Amino acid sequence: MTASTNGRNVLISGGSIAGPSVAFWLNRYGFRTTLVERWHEVRPGGQNVDIEGSGRTVLRKMKLESEVLALHTKETGSNWMTIDGQSRLHLPMGDISPTNETEIQRGDLAKLLYDKTKAQTEWIFGDQIVGIDERGEGVEVEFQSGKKKEFYAVVLADGVGSRTRKLVLGPDEYQFRPLGCYIAYWGMPRDASDQFYDKWQIVPLPNRRILSTRPERTKQFTNTFFSFIEPTSLGLEKLPKAEQIEKLKPYLRGSGKYEATFIKGLENSNDLYLDYAGQIHAKRWHSTGGRVALVGDAAYCATPFSGMGTPLSLVGAYILAGEMARHAGDPKKGLEDYQRIMTPYVKSIQTLGPGIPRIVHPQTWLGIETLYWLVRTMVGIGRLWKRSGLEWLFSKISGPPEDEIVLPDYTALEIGSGQDGKKP
Ligand SMILES: Cc1cc2nc3c(=O)[nH]c(=O)nc-3n(C[C@H](O)[C@H](O)[C@H](O)COP(=O)(O)OP(=O)(O)OC[C@H]3O[C@@H](n4cnc5c(N)ncnc54)[C@H](O)[C@@H]3O)c2cc1C
Repeated sequence: MTASTNGRNVLISGGSIAGPSVAFWLNRYGFRTTLVERWHEVRPGGQNVDIEGSGRTVLRKMKLESEVLALHTKETGSNWMTIDGQSRLHLPMGDISPTNETEIQRGDLAKLLYDKTKAQTEWIFGDQIVGIDERGEGVEVEFQSGKKKEFYAVVLADGVGSRTRKLVLGPDEYQFRPLGCYIAYWGMPRDASDQFYDKWQIVPLPNRRILSTRPERTKQFTNTFFSFIEPTSLGLEKLPKAEQIEKLKPYLRGSGKYEATFIKGLENSNDLYLDYAGQIHAKRWHSTGGRVALVGDAAYCATPFSGMGTPLSLVGAYILAGEMARHAGDPKKGLEDYQRIMTPYVKSIQTLGPGIPRIVHPQTWLGIETLYWLVRTMVGIGRLWKRSGLEWLFSKISGPPEDEIVLPDYTALEIGSGQDGKKP
């Protein structure tokens, strides 16, 4: 334990990606950590996420890169498909493809982070924070179970729909900015006849819908991602699961070869996750008192359309914990510096491409043909750009790409590996 952190106890709310990552780093800096997760276990489910750019650098710092690579979903590339199951464009991994080396299922990553923190962090399942009272030298927290306890600081990492956010930010201090699009994930048994199983299959459908499938690590299931444009929320995200399934079924009609399989898979699914996609934009990622911080989707959700939610959480957790340790005697300064360092990176990731997500959800068959053409053209330009060496030259002149941030070095603050108590 260092004199600066002195075993101070920090409570973290949310046990998915950002929460346990904060715990991981705070353990290394000598804080005591407690993590409360609303679910009754590490929440399974979620589909393929990848961890490139600075997120991967953080993974390396955590010494978890090889374990993440070992959990790869074995996706070998992506294919743009027609509704009769023909591949229109194949992009192998390593080419201009959204598939890369670090494809991992969200549930696998969450479980890995749980395993790496459970020896030092006290995990509490099935409870949640209902009251936060920041006073003087600490924060008194009230739990739904009725317990009350005082902590040195609290970190809220409970996702885009965080219920605790409103305990520290006023209604005019943050905004949920909807993207006008529903997103749904569910798993279904693998179809043995699917010849493109190991590919990310993207099937644009008319009336502004996209169906896509991705392989699952054990090869027993198919991961499904379905998105569709609705200019305003229809409240589907608040319905019980059984009703969500019934409401989703009509949206899957007219998907050709895929229709029957997907509707059946949806009917039998037990892990449907449906949300009205939107970003979180907050003025502050901490309380005015400076002892309660927000991190990950709870603070700056960028949505799956950014492709960067998981790296953003890993980087945010690394910088938050590092700044808390650096300013252990002045927590407010630590949280302000965390926000200052992260802001340009968050801004660049939250800035989605022009027209996203609407542009990739065409209304008509002609629109879909135009989309295939657009993707093919952009891939062609991307390949030329890569091969010409201009990409390398540009990166030298313009500095790190937008998915990267110069990470501060907090090594000197570490007191143990976080796993075996030895200096890493
Ligand atoms: C079930 C699930 C599936 C997902 N699937 C995908 C996917 O397929 N693709 C993708 O790009 N992104 C997915 N995401 C989002 C992705 O995990 C995040 O964008 C990103 O990794 C940031 O993670 P986070 O830890 O900030 O938030 P999240 O991953 O959203 O985790 C929040 C955690 O907090 C818990 N929680 C919520 N409220 C409370 C509370 N009041 N008290 C205590 N705990 C609480 C939740 O149960 C969850 O474990 C999914 C998230 C979840 C929860």
